[in-house]
Amino acid sequence: MSLPLQVELTAPNGLKYTQPVGLFINNEFVKAKNGGTLETIYPAEESVITSVYAAEKEDVDAAVEAARAAYENPNWSSIDPYERSRLMSKLADLVERDRHILGTIDAWDNGKPYSVAANEDVEEVIRLLRYYAGWADKLYGKTIDVGPQKLAYTLHQPVGVCGQIIPWNYPLLMAGWKLGPALATGNTIILKTAEQTPLSALYLGNLIKEAGFPPGVVNIISGYGKTAGAALASHDDVDKIAFTGSTMTGSIIMKAAAVNLKNITLETGGKSPNIVFADADIDQAVKWSHFGIMGNMGQVCSATSRIYVESSIYEDFIKRFKEHTKTLSVVDHPFSETCYQGPQVTKQQFDKIQQYIETGKSEGARLVAGGERVGEKGFFIEPTIFADVKDDMTISKEEIFGPVVVISSFETEKEVIKRANSSTYGLAASVFTENLKKAHRVAAKVHAGMVWINSSNDSHYAIPFGGVKQSGIGRELGDYALQAYTQVKAVHVNLGNDL
Ligand code: NAD
Repeated sequence: MSLPLQVELTAPNGLKYTQPVGLFINNEFVKAKNGGTLETIYPAEESVITSVYAAEKEDVDAAVEAARAAYENPNWSSIDPYERSRLMSKLADLVERDRHILGTIDAWDNGKPYSVAANEDVEEVIRLLRYYAGWADKLYGKTIDVGPQKLAYTLHQPVGVCGQIIPWNYPLLMAGWKLGPALATGNTIILKTAEQTPLSALYLGNLIKEAGFPPGVVNIISGYGKTAGAALASHDDVDKIAFTGSTMTGSIIMKAAAVNLKNITLETGGKSPNIVFADADIDQAVKWSHFGIMGNMGQVCSATSRIYVESSIYEDFIKRFKEHTKTLSVVDHPFSETCYQGPQVTKQQFDKIQQYIETGKSEGARLVAGGERVGEKGFFIEPTIFADVKDDMTISKEEIFGPVVVISSFETEKEVIKRANSSTYGLAASVFTENLKKAHRVAAKVHAGMVWINSSNDSHYAIPFGGVKQSGIGRELGDYALQAYTQVKAVHVNLGNDL
């Protein structure tokens, strides 16, 4: 029996709702042409939630065709920017109306605490859509004075048909980050979700239709990276690829995108340093440092996962960090009210993290806390703290993408900057000190696209997000993301310069 296009589901918190499972193309849910499907699971119980249709090349072709037609249709290409803004605001209202449903879906599909999914992730999507709705009628070019013989001006025009490939750590939020600036600037979109967490974006498809977006402006497809993702990245009628995920996949996508010199934005991995000087407010440093690595089960690209603590406060910091983790990092089911840390997203991630923990032990790091799985069912891992970690240990160099932190001590500012920068990554960094001069000095020298002074992972949709080195290319969020989704056309008007 083939899969229907929508299924009636009852979530672990008792919520009953209708879940679309088709591919969202041209404002309709359709079956994958060859009938292929994929299963998505509840990581707290290792149980199947549902299957969804999985796109392959011919489905990607259909989605691209829909996006191209919508891009060229005056209903979208000539739309009054005010109207574009109104549609986005309407979408924000609908996301707000369905906050409980969307929060439930992400908690179920991803394993993150419901309170975080509903009150942080969904909330940020609402705010971000309103923020970018505000930009839609504020896109300006320039006039350039080159003398009286010529009028020169620039138009900031949409890039065109954009493929957006997102990961599983923030299923709805990553969709929002990608859609907001692309829609504000008038592009059309094929959004490919992560195979691990397809559900909230499909639900969003219904809201996009209800908001009144013309068919084909936003297309949302589930599917595997090697089939659907690769077909999108290499499609010769796609003008841009925006990707968030691992550095290795980013590199593959960059090669695939070269086929027609696509515009690209990549937001990839990190192993972000967190520098705690002895003159820091230690209480605050402990709290933010904990949040910076243990939040979202450690599944955050900008997690500050390498902590360097000045030697005079090293043992005290470790003691307090351990106590704070014990108190705050309550490992539980995502729908439990006390849950701080749910399960890891999949068995694959769970196994990978456990492997890193074993490597840390065998390489001789001091295990201060954690290191084991929690319970026998579900992908739960104890928040894990390693101290006395040497810079050449695997756990100090590689992105673990789980609730595992590595701590080591340092003596001087110069030394710690050098060590912080000795990474192939350059996404984010944190600095804790009460000395403002030192804080700004370090912020300027550290190789990172983002630096937090006296906080960590305190991001905001109005502030640019992205990395240097192997952490990515380009910026998301803020008005910088508008540049990522527009191209500049220079217009030269001859005002009397005869040949
Ligand atoms: P991934 O990079 O493989 O997947 C991210 C997205 O890319 C998914 O939608 C996937 O389907 C797609 N994709 C995969 N291969 C593709 C290809 N060849 N062409 C086009 N698209 C492709 O990440 P993952 O396997 O889910 O996780 C692996 C590691 O990546 C994690 O352990 C973590 O270190 C890192 N990661 C980073 C982020 C981040 O926010 N930077 C997010 C998720 C995972």
